[in-house]
Amino acid sequence: MSLKVYNTLTRTKEEFVPLHPPHVGMYVCGPTVYGHPHLGHAKSYISFDVIYRWLVHLGYQVTHVQNITDVGHLTEDTEGMADEGEDKIAREARKRRTHPMAVAEMYTRSYFEDMDALNIIRPHISPRATGHITEQIELVQQLIETGHAYEANGSVYFDVGSFGKYGKLSGRNVEDMDAGVRVKVHSDKRHPADFALWKKAGQEHIMQWSSPWGKGYPGWHLECTVMSTKYCNGPLDIHGGGIENQFPHHECEIAQWEAVHGGTFAKYWLHNNMVTINGGQKMGKSLNNYISLKELFNGKIEDPDREANVKLTKPFDPMVVRHLLLVSHYRSPIDLSNDALRAAESGYYKLRDAVVAVREALSSASPGDPDPKIAEKVMDVEARFIAAMNDDFNAAVAMATLFDLVRIAHAAVEAGARQGTLTQIDEKFRVLGGDVLGIVTDHMTADASGDGGETLDAVMQLVMDLRKNARANKDFASADQIRDALNAANITLEDRPDGTAWKRG
Ligand code: ZN
Repeated sequence: MSLKVYNTLTRTKEEFVPLHPPHVGMYVCGPTVYGHPHLGHAKSYISFDVIYRWLVHLGYQVTHVQNITDVGHLTEDTEGMADEGEDKIAREARKRRTHPMAVAEMYTRSYFEDMDALNIIRPHISPRATGHITEQIELVQQLIETGHAYEANGSVYFDVGSFGKYGKLSGRNVEDMDAGVRVKVHSDKRHPADFALWKKAGQEHIMQWSSPWGKGYPGWHLECTVMSTKYCNGPLDIHGGGIENQFPHHECEIAQWEAVHGGTFAKYWLHNNMVTINGGQKMGKSLNNYISLKELFNGKIEDPDREANVKLTKPFDPMVVRHLLLVSHYRSPIDLSNDALRAAESGYYKLRDAVVAVREALSSASPGDPDPKIAEKVMDVEARFIAAMNDDFNAAVAMATLFDLVRIAHAAVEAGARQGTLTQIDEKFRVLGGDVLGIVTDHMTADASGDGGETLDAVMQLVMDLRKNARANKDFASADQIRDALNAANITLEDRPDGTAWKRG
C-alpha cells in the first residue's frame, strides 16, 4: 500500500514518489520570531511533525529544514498589499527599545521551548534569514541577469510578467491580481503585482546590509527559496506551510526559483489549515483574540485587553494541546474553545491511563504467548492505522484507531492477559502512538500531568462554588479555610475579574 498525499499544486491526491528515493527533502516555512508562538504555530508544526514522523516510519531518509525568519517579514506582507509596512521584528524592537536581534533571539528560544513541550521533533536545520544574506543577494543578481527582476530606486522587484507560470499554485492570474492590489502612489513597481526581492533601507532601519543596489534588506520570500534548496540540495520533494501563505509567499518562492533554474521548485506542496476560535472566528494577532501556547500551558491570558476576547478557565498540559490538534486532519480547520480543550483533555487522559495500565500489568503478568484472538484485533488496529496515515497523513482517523487499541488494552488487562499479549499491545502504543503520532511517551505515568482530569475539574468547580457562596454570605472564615486547605493540597486559587481559576503548585 502506497502513500498518497494531497498536492496543492495539482489539487489532487497523488502517489508519493520522491525525486531521489529513499531521500526526501522537506522544507516547512518557520516562524517569524517577533512574539511567543500561538496555537496557529502549534497546528502547523504538529501537522508537519506527524508528516515527518510517518515518512521516517515508512523508511525514508528525510532532511527536514525549517527556517527562522528574523528579517524582512513586513507588517503588510499580505494579500492585496504586498511589500508595505514595517519589518515586524524591527517594529517590536523599537517598541521595546532593544536590538532587533535581541527580539529574534528571545522569541526563537521561546519558539523551541514550546515546540519541545508539544513533543515536536526539532528540524535537522533551522537556518536564519540573516545568516544567508550573501546567498539571497546572489539570487537577486541572477534574477536581474536573466531578465526577471529590475532595480528601481535602490530596491529590486520581481517582474511578474516575465514568468508565465506565476499564479500556478494559488490558481490566480496576473490580471486578477491587478484588480486586487492596492498601489501606493509613488510606487517604484512597473506592475502592481510585482513583488520586492530587495528593499532599500532608510537610515532608521537597523537591519541593513550592503548590496550592489546600496544598503538594504531582503524581501521575505527570498529566504525560503534560498535556504530550502541550499540545505535540501536542490529542488524539494515537499514544501510545507500554512494555507494562508499559499499566496503571495509560496507563489513568490516558486517564481524566484523556477525563473532562474527552470524545472520544478517543489514536487509536492502541502498546506495545513488554520485554527479558529469560539465557533469559527478567525484567530489572529490583529484581531486580538489569539492565545499563546504559554498562556494555554499556564492557564492565564497575560493581556487584559485580549482577555476580554478570549476566556481560559484553567491550565492545559502541552500534550493535551497536541491531542486536540491531532484529532482533526491537517487540512481541516480546528476551532478552539474551552469545551474542545476539555474534550481533548479527557481523551488524552483515557489514552494515557490505558498505556499506564498495560505497562503496570506487564510488570506482574505471567509469561505466555500472545492470545491469537487479541493479536488478531491488534493487527486489525494497526492495518487501519497504516491505511489512515497512508491516506494523506490522516492522523484524525489514526487517533480513532488508537482508541480501539485503548479498549483492547483495558479488556486484556481486566482478563489478566499474559506477557505476550501485553507486550504486543504496549509495542503498538509505543510505535503508533509514540513514534508516529508523538502522543504516547515513555515517561507516561498516571499522575504525570499533575492533573486528575475531568473528575478533579468537577470537584474543583464545586469547591470554588462553595467558597464563592461563603464569600457572598460574608462568611470569610469558611472562604479562607477552603483556600488554606487547598493550599495544603498544593492547589492555588487565583481570583480574577471574571471568576476564580485554580492551578497546581
Ligand atoms: Zn517561507
